Amino acid sequence: MGDGSVERDWPTLSEDLTTQLDGLTAQQLREVIEYAQWRLREMHQPVSRQIEAGPGEEILSVEDRPEYTKVVKREPCGDDCPDCPHGPYLYHVYEEIHPDRESSLHWVFLGRLYEPPSKNSPD
Ligand SMILES: [Zn+2]
Repeated sequence: MGDGSVERDWPTLSEDLTTQLDGLTAQQLREVIEYAQWRLREMHQPVSRQIEAGPGEEILSVEDRPEYTKVVKREPCGDDCPDCPHGPYLYHVYEEIHPDRESSLHWVFLGRLYEPPSKNSPD
């Protein structure tokens, strides 16, 4: 064995856990990696499930796409006018993952739609 070992800390893994992992075969480790990746996907909520209507808003459609989530909604203008809520307005919503692994939604306003949204409407 060459001396290729690197001293590293795994501060968020308990000693119990690293000791258990150290006892695994390569095949078992590969299964642990697959399992961990599956768990990460399970834990992550799609953007469409994070979107909620604000006060006076009406969500008309939400569609997860690989690059963004398409949201069409109607919004109040805040003036208590007879036409409220206004729209429908089209947004692309992006999820921003921060260094602390928390995420937030970034809304990009694209404009007003003049036809009711349908599932296969173009962007
Ligand atoms: Zn209004």
